[in-house]
Amino acid sequence: MKKTIKDYNLNGKKVIIRCDFNVPIENGIIKDETRLKKSLRTIRYARKNNAKVILMSHLGRINKEEDKQKYTLKPVAERLSKLLRKKVTFIDQTRGEKLEKAINNMKDKDVILIENTRFEDLDGKKESSNDKMLGKYWASLGDIFINDAFGTIHRAHASNLGIASNLPNGLGFLVENEIKKLTKLIDKPKKPYTIILGGSKVEDKIGVISNLITKADYLLIGGGMAFTFLKAAGFNIGSSLCEREKLSYCKDLLNKYEEKIVLPIDIITAKEINENAKTTERFLGEIEEDEIGLDIGPKTTEVFKQYLDDCKTIFWNGPLGYFELKPFQNGTKTILDIITKTKAYTVVGGGDTIRAATDFNYQDKISHISTGGGASLAFLEEKPLPALDIIDEK
Ligand code: AMP
Repeated sequence: MKKTIKDYNLNGKKVIIRCDFNVPIENGIIKDETRLKKSLRTIRYARKNNAKVILMSHLGRINKEEDKQKYTLKPVAERLSKLLRKKVTFIDQTRGEKLEKAINNMKDKDVILIENTRFEDLDGKKESSNDKMLGKYWASLGDIFINDAFGTIHRAHASNLGIASNLPNGLGFLVENEIKKLTKLIDKPKKPYTIILGGSKVEDKIGVISNLITKADYLLIGGGMAFTFLKAAGFNIGSSLCEREKLSYCKDLLNKYEEKIVLPIDIITAKEINENAKTTERFLGEIEEDEIGLDIGPKTTEVFKQYLDDCKTIFWNGPLGYFELKPFQNGTKTILDIITKTKAYTVVGGGDTIRAATDFNYQDKISHISTGGGASLAFLEEKPLPALDIIDEK
């Protein structure tokens, strides 16, 4: 058993909590605060036990100087202050004198949020490649390290693995709960068990299929993910997303798991991606060269329903269409409706899938909303999870 925050006396200690505040922010406005809300329990516990609370998180990806403005954590500090009903002091640095001074001046129960850890990526990917000196430096700012960021548990970063290697450490309540809830999907899940995969990070996710498919009875594929499979099956996909290097991999999977893999039979297409796009319902074989497949069609949702209705376990990662825009919402919305009407144990994971569940108001009807997308997939694949594996055993 891994140590948790409860295994430490936090009184007067500087406790670094690595959170996952990687929330969608548009023009400074947080579009979905599920991850913030799920972090509150650990932060409140630390404050109640008189800790000085130092919060860290990444947000988005930082590849160039201009990304910094878009991905500052300042709006998160403001929102967290309201949720905690306690001022969260935002320090616009990831290292340096200002940060060190602010930490040295902290009183018990104070909360500080430091700037996006990935700002360090501009300097030779120091955060994402777990630069040893950076992990050591961040660890020097605190006495105890608590990892409560499930979304990056499968990554070896300076702000998780790096700090944990240099301080007494444990898990926060959020990560503890994720492990408990996701273990139910590995440890003799109730059958039939169906996995739904969608989204647009095809390159990241397509590789997990060969492993996940061995654990479930059916795999329903929608979203951007579906088109590489449809192309591999010989259908014209027009200008839809496609991972060409994976075509033969998909073909092999389709041959091997013909009974298990369920693909869309109709598609909502458009020639442009915007709120006013004119949509067309196409059966496979009808998609034209200049059309983009942006949602599953109504016949597909009917087919998916047949697989989902008497399922006992359902895991879903990745929206089934470009749900941020009204013309392409139906597939994701209808499938949310269907799974929440079943008696199954339902787990939905990943930032955009969570956002869809909250936007369409299904969040309270799902058994477990996992804060991790790639992380929950890696967990289900039973892969090594560097930022979890490093945590001390009791
Ligand atoms: P992911 O992070 O892989 O779960 O991808 C989420 C994103 O996939 C969302 O922003 C969706 O709008 C997008 N998406 C879903 N279906 C499609 C599609 N058919 N084509 C392009 N993007 C899509």
